[in-house]
Parts: sequence; C-alpha cells; structure tokens
Amino acid sequence: MEGSAKDFKSVGLNDEMLDNLKSLGYLKMTPIQEKGLPLILSDQDFIGQANTGSGKTAAFALGILSKLDVTNCSPQALVIVPTRELAEQVANEIRMLARFRSNIKVLTMSGGLEEHLKIKSLKQGAHIIVGTPGRIIKLFETGMLVANDIKILVLDEADRLLEMGSIEEINRIASFTPLNRQTMLFSATFPNGIKKLSASIQEDPAQVTIDSQHQINTIEQLFFKVDGHKNDALLRVLRQYNPESCIIFCNSREICKKVAAYLGSKNMVVLQIHSDLEQPERTLFLLKFDNKSCRILVATDLASRGLDVKDVAAIINYDLPCNHELYVHRIGRTGRAGKKGLALSLYTENDCTILENISDYLKLECQTIELNDLEKLRQNAIRPCMSTIYITGGRKDNIRPGDILGALTREAGLKSEDVGKIHVLEVNSYVAIANDKIEHAIEHLNLGKIKGKKFRVGKA
Ligand code: ADP
Ligand code: MG
Repeated sequence: MEGSAKDFKSVGLNDEMLDNLKSLGYLKMTPIQEKGLPLILSDQDFIGQANTGSGKTAAFALGILSKLDVTNCSPQALVIVPTRELAEQVANEIRMLARFRSNIKVLTMSGGLEEHLKIKSLKQGAHIIVGTPGRIIKLFETGMLVANDIKILVLDEADRLLEMGSIEEINRIASFTPLNRQTMLFSATFPNGIKKLSASIQEDPAQVTIDSQHQINTIEQLFFKVDGHKNDALLRVLRQYNPESCIIFCNSREICKKVAAYLGSKNMVVLQIHSDLEQPERTLFLLKFDNKSCRILVATDLASRGLDVKDVAAIINYDLPCNHELYVHRIGRTGRAGKKGLALSLYTENDCTILENISDYLKLECQTIELNDLEKLRQNAIRPCMSTIYITGGRKDNIRPGDILGALTREAGLKSEDVGKIHVLEVNSYVAIANDKIEHAIEHLNLGKIKGKKFRVGKA
C-alpha cells in the first residue's frame, strides 16, 4: 500500500486492537478505512463505496468491535450479507479482528445443516450476528433473535443484496431493530436502488466513495475478438498467459459446465463454482483453489460473489458480463492489495455495445489483441504442482496447523516446501502436498497419529 497511508493508531483504536491488527499484518489503513473509520466510529449512519478487495469488512468490523459491550451477551450488531458463504467469510474476518479479547462471540445465521446448533448457540448469547436476509427475517419473526440491544446494522454488498432480494426485505429487517441504531451500508457499485434503500433506512448518512480508478489502473486489461470457437480462443489465451491462478467467468452455469469439461479434456485441472453445488463441495473447491492444488476456477457471477480469494493472477471473461458494473466486480478479483492484476476478456461481434459501455465507464481505451498474434504452439497445461489430502480431524479434536505440519515433516519426513497451505476446519482438515509426495504422505499419516489420535487420511 502507498507510503502515505496512515496507520490505525490515528483513528484512536485501543492498544489491544492495534496490537492485534499488527499481528494480522494490517499495518496501514486502506483508503476506505482511512476515510470511513472516523465517521463510523462517530456513530453516524454511513455509506461506503469502494471496489472489491478494498477492506470494507474491517472498516465496519472495527467500528462494531470498538463499540461492543462484551459483558452484554445479547446481539449488539447485525451484519446482513447476500450469501451463506459470505456470511462465513465476514464472520471469520470479524473473529480475527476480535482476537484482542477472548470472549467475543460472532455467529453466522444463514441456513444450512447446522442451523439447529446455531440456534442453540444463539440462545446462549452472541455479540455479533452475520446472516442472510431470509434467515434473519425468520429468526426475528419467530422471536429467536431479539433485537433490543442492536446498536449497529450493517448491509454488506448492498448492491448484491438488492439484486438477490428486495428493498422490502431489508426494510423488514430494519423494522425489527431499534430506531436509534447506526446503519451502515457497503457496496462496490452504486446503482439507483441503493439510494432508495439508503433513504428508507438511514438518517443523514455520511458517504465515502473511493475511486476505483486507482485499483483498476493496476490491472492490465486485454480484449480478444473471437470469430471462431470460443473454447479454442480460451485455450490459446490460457496457454499464452499461463497464469499461476485464474478465475474464468461465464454467464451461466451451463456454460460453466461446458467450459470446465472442455478444459478437463485438455488435461487441465479445473474446478467449477456455480449454484448447482452443495455447500461442502463448494467449500472444498474454494479451499483447493486457495491452497494452489487447482489453478483454474470456472465460475458464474452469482456463485463467485464476495469470495475473498486472494492473489488471483488473472481473471478471464469467457463471456463478457451483461453490464459494466459486473465487469468491474469480476476484474476486481485480480490485482488485490496493490498487486498487479491481469484481466483477459473474450468478446464476439455481438458484444460491441457492452464493450463500449465498459470503455466509457472506465475511461479506458480497450486494448484488443488478435488471437492470431498469439503464439500457436504454446502447450502450457496449467497443471498445479500440489494436490490436497483430507484428514478426518479438525478443530473439534483441538488440531492446529502446526500439529499437522509436525506430523508431515517429522513423522512422514516431508520437507516443509513439500507442504502447502493447511486448512483446519471444524471436523476435517485439508493440506496441500507436492504431487510427488502425496502417496508417501497419505501412507505415513494413516500409520501415525496426530495429537495422539488416529485419523483417516486420503486424497480429497
Ligand atoms: P471488500 O469487502 O472491500 O471486498 P475485504 O474486506 O474482503 O474487501 O478485504 C480484502 C482483503 O484485504 C482481506 O483478505 C482482508 O483481510 C485484507 N485487508 C483488509 N484491510 C487490510 C489492511 N488494512 N491491511 C492489510 N490487509 C487488509
Ligand atoms: Mg466485502
């Protein structure tokens, strides 16, 4: 981040919070944090507009955390997000930021299998609730969620909330919460609906808009005109640029499936994220992408919303999106946190209008490249050098990443560079292992123990 960026101290967070931020590597505020936090901390209603990956979560999370009365176990902040997955991500970020105190409870309420456990947990008390609209309305209606002490209501990804639901839904949620609350609204784009929404639930909000130009400028955007087969074009583009990791965006899940099947037939390792997937599969796929045992993710917009997948080297628009806002969302997945990004878009004759819209909106001279100018013979297969193994033990067994790394390096004799990212989840853990060590690792872990216990281990 730029040298001129301020550190968190300047907005007056307490020392414990500052230490924790430091330990997380949050040394400087992002622009939305720097401009937004003083207003957020002053209890004003707030609208924050900044592109994806700009640190909006921490902006409101730090606001919430600094106003929390930890001795009061009823919900004091409610964060509404469009999807279940985002609920988990936002809750996790808040939990990380909440580590400066040991007993802050953050609960997600967004449907799914463990909902009855969550309700039990809710009854025992929680400080911060992160949930999806439908679920939260139900909980209010059934009296399961009590809003008396809610001081802060946050609508995260408000543009997405409106696309997937309605203003009425959000109004309904707001109507359950106390009038003297602080209402914050965050969004990457600012369509008209947001103004209406704000007018109906906010009072005299302060607004901070961070120009996305700065980030967009760090993304190299190239456009490829396709006359023949799109799949051929995609393959050539992929082989030419050989990205370390990439998300390929398609306009429907049917197209996703076809593209994934095609790339699979070319010997590439590909995962798809679309609405046909069950949650556990989705989690596993994202985890594999994150731990680098898969370099290519094929996704629809809906399914990829709000994902905090870090460091995507490139995004590819297999189809151009139907509007420029979606385009900005998509390319915002690459070039995060000041890194250089790459956005490669295929387009056909029919896409000329949208292409113009994009170029007008971004004040960008679209740089088109002839597919024929790409080298024909590049054969990069874009295969990962890691694969993922599962271990049937997780947080519930008190396993930590260090325990797994220890078992792999000491007992199985792997070098630490053969071990990639380790994800310890509630019941299972997943580890990326160098492809040529995978059988060896599985065999040894199955024979040995982790934290004194035996677990099953296999290829995920
Ligand atoms: P947004 O909601 O604006 O799309 P996120 O809140 O998901 O973006 O943040 C994107 C990433 O940046 C996250 O991985 C988050 O942990 C990280 N991040 C946020 N604020 C900071 C900061 N001040 N310094 C370093 N990293 C940060
Ligand atoms: Mg966000």
